[in-house]
Amino acid sequence: MSRGILFCTGLHLCKSKSTQAMEIRSAKYLISSPRVELCPKPDKPEYAFIGRSNVGKSSLINMLTGQNKLAKTSGSPGKTQMINHFVVNNEWYLVDLPGYGYAKVSQKQRASFGKMIENYLRQRENLVTVFVLIDSRHKPQQIDLDFLAQLGEWEIPFNLVFTKADKSTQREAAKNVRTFIEAMREEWEFIPRSFLTSAVKNLGRKEMLAYVEELNTMYHDRPKE
Ligand code: GDP
Repeated sequence: MSRGILFCTGLHLCKSKSTQAMEIRSAKYLISSPRVELCPKPDKPEYAFIGRSNVGKSSLINMLTGQNKLAKTSGSPGKTQMINHFVVNNEWYLVDLPGYGYAKVSQKQRASFGKMIENYLRQRENLVTVFVLIDSRHKPQQIDLDFLAQLGEWEIPFNLVFTKADKSTQREAAKNVRTFIEAMREEWEFIPRSFLTSAVKNLGRKEMLAYVEELNTMYHDRPKE
């Protein structure tokens, strides 16, 4: 089956008009919610971040917001099991979702995170895109491809963020990105925009923030029902 629904919203069709990085004036933790119904009022465009545990999600969030302690890096289990909202520039919500593919939690716990994430992704009306993080050091992992297929079935727009680019040579990282995208082409008709990042080298920050800015503008300009 060829998946082509990703672009239904039209949000991803535009090329970046500006490469000016959004200036981060403020980034604050708001709340951790166990259910989508308890999340903040959906009054701002929202961007969710998800990936396997240890993919570098907290480091990426800290790099983007320029605050090295905003998201907790690995080792704080409590909040890593909730929907964590941050507000940036009082303009957009950044959401830190639990990692998938945890080895350490029971199957029952995994199923309940799974349901929480599914409900959040499918019901959150102000969700603009999901940034799915992929470790740029590895060959395509089935668990990541399966998660993308699931997003496709639910018709949820996403972008790929390849992390830890500094850990391999540029050539190796580029090759892994290419291989991943080739693996996606077997199922997907359109490939979403992707970013190569390093939290250590601040790589990809400017591009990701410019992209969020562009989507924020489109979000506010969209026809209202
Ligand atoms: P999370 O579990 O997905 O939130 O991952 P973390 O942000 O806690 O990162 C997991 C580990 O990878 C930590 O030891 C980080 O220091 C390391 N890490 C994360 N991002 C990068 C990166 O861009 N470059 C390097 N070299 N290490 C990273």
